[in-house]
Amino acid sequence: MRTIDSLGEIDGQRVLVRVDFNVPILDGKVGDDTRMRRAIPTLEALRERGAKLLLVSHLGRPKDREPELSLAPVAERAGQLLHAEVQLAPDLDDVPDGDVVMLENIRYEPGETKNDPELARRLASLADYYVNDAFGTSHREHASTAGIIPLVRRSAAGLLFQSEVDTIRLIMNHADRPFLAIMGGAKVSDKIAVMDRFLDVADVVLVGGAMATPFLKVLGHEIGEGLCEEAGLEPARRALEKDGYPGGKLRLPVDLVVADSFSGDAEVQILPGVDVPDGWMQLDIGSKTRTEYVAEIRKARTIFWNGPIGAFEHKPFAAGSLAVAQAMAQTEATTVVGGGDSAAALAEFGLAHSVTHLSTGGGAALKLIEGTTLPGLEALKA
Ligand code: AMP
Repeated sequence: MRTIDSLGEIDGQRVLVRVDFNVPILDGKVGDDTRMRRAIPTLEALRERGAKLLLVSHLGRPKDREPELSLAPVAERAGQLLHAEVQLAPDLDDVPDGDVVMLENIRYEPGETKNDPELARRLASLADYYVNDAFGTSHREHASTAGIIPLVRRSAAGLLFQSEVDTIRLIMNHADRPFLAIMGGAKVSDKIAVMDRFLDVADVVLVGGAMATPFLKVLGHEIGEGLCEEAGLEPARRALEKDGYPGGKLRLPVDLVVADSFSGDAEVQILPGVDVPDGWMQLDIGSKTRTEYVAEIRKARTIFWNGPIGAFEHKPFAAGSLAVAQAMAQTEATTVVGGGDSAAALAEFGLAHSVTHLSTGGGAALKLIEGTTLPGLEALKA
């Protein structure tokens, strides 16, 4: 992977930087600007070398240039973070020559997500140098993340992109042991390939959240009304078989918090086992499981966490995720959190700064762990 040092002399040159400024917009203002802040070191490093920046990002999934998906509030926030004027360029064919310019939402261009060669050519005509710091979109083969790269003079990964890739490669190849993986959340079928990799490379794999339900069902337990993705059953069966459960690396909940509905004011019961009665659903791990999982976290030297351990958005079901987050915050181990919802849980608990590495690219991080080729990364190797 080429780094920004390899760009050579860029004083006075325009560098097109693909950033992931896909941030929440609330009442016309940027909400959580974490993703923007994480790209600032790259932008500052390029500016210190005298480069003029052309920032390119997407925001949401526009269908028809919806004004609420304009990058105008993002450009304003970027100006504050960079202590510089950031001009927004609504028209790709009329880009001003300022020190820092931001193109309007690149997904307003229908060719972006199709990796249209004509759009890639128009983008490449705007700068001789290209830097990608948008790790979160590197699993997509789009005009601004892949198509443009062979068309510019020099290209490189930004500092954030590089640290995201290096961190995941480090833990997957050279983790200090014991290496613990914690898998939660809801989308089992999306994450099963990742779990498969962890069954190969990690020492212990903790399962929680709705992820646990298909595993418990395959083992013959009653799951009540719990969220259980049909497509997750067969992969769960295969994972249990591969692991040689219960003698292997997988750990499943031994007790649960169950409720009569998915809501903060549901009726709640603590279940001493894992057979969920009809009319109830598991929404968190129980206290025995919490204690066991925290003990594993304390033993580990490297920890990767993806996906909340319960429906943490509702207070009665947040204890499992909170216990995991707090134990991770307290350990000396290398702690890596990948995935939007575990990041959201950490932020909710005020612990976002307590982990070694918080990935900005959940989907891309999971693909990299799986071993799937990321087009945006491949293009920077060639
Ligand atoms: P994911 O995007 O796959 O990481 O899933 C995150 C979502 O899973 C969060 O919105 C959680 O509320 C939800 N979740 C976690 N545990 C459970 C559970 N036991 N039952 C239903 N939903 C859950």
